[in-house]
Amino acid sequence: MRRKRLYEGKAKILYEGPEPGTIVQYFKDDATAFNAQKRGTITGKGVLNNRISEYLMTHLAEMGIPTHFIRRLNMREQLVREVEIIPLEIVVRNVAAGSFAQRFKMEEGSPLPRTLIEYCYKSDELGDPLVAEEHVLAFNWASPQELDEIVALTVRVNDYLSGLFLGIGLKLVDFKLEFGRLWEGEEMRVVLADEISPDSCRLWDLQTGEKMDKDRFRRDLGGIEEAYQEVARRLGVLPETGPADAPAPQTLQ
Ligand code: UDP
Repeated sequence: MRRKRLYEGKAKILYEGPEPGTIVQYFKDDATAFNAQKRGTITGKGVLNNRISEYLMTHLAEMGIPTHFIRRLNMREQLVREVEIIPLEIVVRNVAAGSFAQRFKMEEGSPLPRTLIEYCYKSDELGDPLVAEEHVLAFNWASPQELDEIVALTVRVNDYLSGLFLGIGLKLVDFKLEFGRLWEGEEMRVVLADEISPDSCRLWDLQTGEKMDKDRFRRDLGGIEEAYQEVARRLGVLPETGPADAPAPQTLQ
């Protein structure tokens, strides 16, 4: 079936959906880091992130968080509602790590006085710069009401996901959310969009402290595929055939 490709990003392709107001999100195995200066492939990542994001979005919806997610279509695709993406990356930090730890010369894993929410302006050209609420409002990237709604939803998402991951032995260190405007006639609602996966979360094993997320790729730690698989397995969404589209014969050990 020929479908119109609307957008190709670093990890996903968006196609026109079967009905008006819908979009198909196709999850690729491509990985990038450091504003696309580092590129690579994580075999099976797309299949796993499709499942992981489906699982998390579905559970968040059950908790009353509005999301763009409609349903998973196949191994690599999910149907979502078309939204107008608010050009902000909402970053939640429960523990110091990554660029935050560097910025404040803190040891990774240091506790924070409280959970922090940061905003980055979504712009590949500018490298997603950190911005303040002042910039968000002055440049009208979001209205005050939208920003209030985004923060309220983000706090609920963090509470829910932190507990969910704790239950499977993972610490939710930090993560990134994106929101969109969903138009329903004259009415507009802010909904959770994009994806939630080990590409956009830092997840550390509670027992060993091992990184179970994209930092394995960013920092060349190896075992990337295995880490994504382990997250999927603990969530109970590892496809029986494994993450590959065409399962290869496997030797059991
Ligand atoms: N993050 C993301 N996309 C981005 C930047 C960050 O999904 O473009 C996520 C990242 O995976 C981490 C959190 O947001 O879970 C905080 O990332 P940080 O600002 O520390 O940047 P990084 O160290 O990943 O460059």
